[in-house]
Amino acid sequence: MLEKTMEGIDTVKVIEEFEALTKDAGRVQRETLKKILEENGSAEYLLNLGLNGRTDPEGFKSCVPLVTHKDLEAYIHRIADGDPSPILTGKPIADMSLSSGTTQGKRKFVPFNDELMENTLQIYRTSFAFRNREFPLERGKSLQFVYSSKPGKTKGGLGAGTATTNLFRNSKYKSGMKAIQFQCCSPDEVIFGPDFQQSLYCHLLCGLLVREEIQFVFSTFAHSLVLAFRTFEQVWEELCNDIRDGELSSRVTAPSVRMAMSKLLKPNPELADLINKKCSGLSNWYGLIPELFPNAKYIYGIMTGSMEPYLKKLRHYAGQLPLMSADYGSSEGWIAANVNPNLPPELATFAVLPNIGYFEFIPLKNDSECMYMEPEPVGLTEVKIGEDYEIIVTNFAGLYRYRLGDVVRVMGFHNSTPELKFVCRRNLILSINIDKNTENDLQLSVEEAGKLLAEEKVEVVDFSSLVDVSTDPGHYVIFLEISGEPSEEVLKECCNCLDRSFVDAGYVSSRKVKAIGPLELRVVRRGTFQKILEHCLGLGTVVSQFKTPRCVGPMNSKVQQILCNNVAKTYFSTAFE
Ligand code: AMP
Repeated sequence: MLEKTMEGIDTVKVIEEFEALTKDAGRVQRETLKKILEENGSAEYLLNLGLNGRTDPEGFKSCVPLVTHKDLEAYIHRIADGDPSPILTGKPIADMSLSSGTTQGKRKFVPFNDELMENTLQIYRTSFAFRNREFPLERGKSLQFVYSSKPGKTKGGLGAGTATTNLFRNSKYKSGMKAIQFQCCSPDEVIFGPDFQQSLYCHLLCGLLVREEIQFVFSTFAHSLVLAFRTFEQVWEELCNDIRDGELSSRVTAPSVRMAMSKLLKPNPELADLINKKCSGLSNWYGLIPELFPNAKYIYGIMTGSMEPYLKKLRHYAGQLPLMSADYGSSEGWIAANVNPNLPPELATFAVLPNIGYFEFIPLKNDSECMYMEPEPVGLTEVKIGEDYEIIVTNFAGLYRYRLGDVVRVMGFHNSTPELKFVCRRNLILSINIDKNTENDLQLSVEEAGKLLAEEKVEVVDFSSLVDVSTDPGHYVIFLEISGEPSEEVLKECCNCLDRSFVDAGYVSSRKVKAIGPLELRVVRRGTFQKILEHCLGLGTVVSQFKTPRCVGPMNSKVQQILCNNVAKTYFSTAFE
């Protein structure tokens, strides 16, 4: 059933536009590159590379090198410091986005402009149109665990905030979001509140006050959803008291937030009793979300990649409610939309929108030919099903042939545009000598160990790792925060299981010949990962953007310190003895 939604976007038209764009993805890509290069031909960066007005893919690839953020840092800093000349783009850049940097421990500026704003809305509209075709929303609101950082300024006076903050501040955003029924039940004061714990509490309260109107539950990344409902488990009685008395808990101290909430709260003992009854009737909080929000159609947010470890807990809270994985993008710009909303997050794919940037793909083959020379990138329509690639982005905001650092797998095609699965970040996270293990390998290993814990009704709350080369030989250290106290035997077995589950040939052979020492499991105290989150927030990350650092290198010494200072128990693997 295709229909125009109440707020006005014509989902039929949006789908038709997407179909037309993707049927001719090759031509659209060439036109998009031409447009980007024409708009920015006067930029110093492109002039210096001798492009001389060429706008064809061949000329572009021969003149413009592949770059990382580091290569562009000097240019980006000049822009941030207020140099008004056309440096990376033809038109001046007014805002910078701060990427989360949680994986590397260092946040970085990337240019943001109106075109990126438009791309965002196009991606949101597209996936909404497909989603709404399968799971139509009724009139109502959404419960969104979104948090905005305080917008700052760069040295040169440009706006500086996270990508989401830049979106929230843009006047087009609100009307665009209204058109896709993305209206948050919480007032702006809560979203922009100075303290995320207080905002989280108020988001929950706002959701409960209009519980029957809530059509879906959202956060940018699944981590924030799990955090929200774990918090609910702790504060639900306090929330009920607030609803009963019509008075906000003293835990919320920010005057702007208190003022906004006082307009919503009135004594409502019936609602308080109802929520109390519903919560008391649940078994270990299974199905909490649909119980609280009976008209919610789905739960929505990025659930792929480094968010997969939170799915188990999220499914527990969601009961029968579908989990829908949101689109694929980054602070550097959006890439692809989820146009198959029926697929569970583990199988989610993202169809590239060929007009929002120019995309190239470096084939990642594990054959010897590629060991010494990196293969040439291929174009969007030249990728092959089943192959892995590193994605290269050229966008409308001054990034040309930019290595995003993500690995994607081509799962199929939607018309002629590829449908990608997010695999992992490209940088190896665990490596001592010939071993190579990625974030994804670590995740799989922790999943295996998690199965042993699950038998004891214990969950993995979160995890991280590091490479310890202070011992000889060096070894992997895995930090686990877990929800209970399993026996020593189980933890020892978990440690062995983690070690055995790294199946990379380089690791296994090094372990066998003792070129890598026994894996070390360090169980950390409850709340350790909350401390890491708080530390990252202190550095200016917003919760909505937070990704747990899965490997803490020496650059991330503070996080390393938090982990190491909170170790409750340590085990060494005996798997290879
Ligand atoms: P940020 O640097 O905070 O803008 O985060 C962007 C990064 O988040 C991307 O480069 C990806 O590594 C990751 N990411 C974004 N969208 C997805 C997705 N749908 N699935 C998995 N990872 C994603």
